[in-house]
Amino acid sequence: MTTVLETTDSERPRHPEKAHRPDNPIQRKPDWIRVKAPGSAAYLETRKLVKENRLVTVCEEAGCPNIGECWSKKHATFMVMGDTCTRACAFCNVRTGIPDALDTGEPERVADAVAKMGLKHAVITSVDRDDLDDGGARHFALVIRAIRRQSPETTIEVLTPDFLRKDGALEMVVEARPDVFNHNLETVPRLYLNIRPGARYFHSLRLLQKVKELDPQMFTKSGLMVGLGEARNEVLQVMDDMRAANIDFMTIGQYLQPTRKHAAIDRFWTPEEFEALSKSAYAKGFLMVSSSPLTRSSHHAGDDFARLQGARAAQAVLKPR
Ligand code: SF4
Repeated sequence: MTTVLETTDSERPRHPEKAHRPDNPIQRKPDWIRVKAPGSAAYLETRKLVKENRLVTVCEEAGCPNIGECWSKKHATFMVMGDTCTRACAFCNVRTGIPDALDTGEPERVADAVAKMGLKHAVITSVDRDDLDDGGARHFALVIRAIRRQSPETTIEVLTPDFLRKDGALEMVVEARPDVFNHNLETVPRLYLNIRPGARYFHSLRLLQKVKELDPQMFTKSGLMVGLGEARNEVLQVMDDMRAANIDFMTIGQYLQPTRKHAAIDRFWTPEEFEALSKSAYAKGFLMVSSSPLTRSSHHAGDDFARLQGARAAQAVLKPR
């Protein structure tokens, strides 16, 4: 696991809004949270490509524990629209502040990297850009179209912000036709004010429901972190809410505290508890569920997409005509 401490760059702290918060000691991780150390030849190759194309990845910015494994398999998740987020979620390690203007060359550079890496499935995410009129939706659409032009066989998954108060933004992204539309609910509604203060639970849920209304064929996906103080019943309620919004794929992973200034871990859920959550989620009708301590939205996303397609095909066969 990569623990990124609250460091300062030359000018300013990474999370200025958190600087005044009391320290939350970082708990020792249990034995079941063990990850592959970064450094293989393929890992270094992925890192070189990312740097050469001047790209930002959420793998690095969020201090993702899976980076050693994913980059060794040449799987990286590109984070577009800069490295600075306009929100300040209590769990997230992405830098916060006022972002730079959009880089108009970025969509082609992302598409170049996808082509050079020969990705079968590309995952694109972004920081929140509340400063832009469309929340960055047009930029997402440009990235999707650039990848399609250069790599028509590659399937595309977007993990978007919530586009709160950005009328027409969601429609712009859906019109560009990604294969998977992912937006994470992150936590149970009771914890939103502390953990995701700039977001609204119902809005995020409705966003995903609208994707299905706009394009019933598009796969929808959403994720939760556990370990922030939620009760099992609250997680089960979120599953029901997600199913009511027709979400196809649910991911559940353990929250890991990036720095002493971030939200404290309430507890580590055990692998058995993750397994039980997975069973409950399948029983509620999700096409796919990924639930384990190290599950992240984009972890194994390519393999999972193939399984998702298979699950839909199998369901179509079973449905009475
Ligand atoms: S799980 Fe996602 S964010 Fe983490 S290293 Fe893998 S691709 Fe990057």
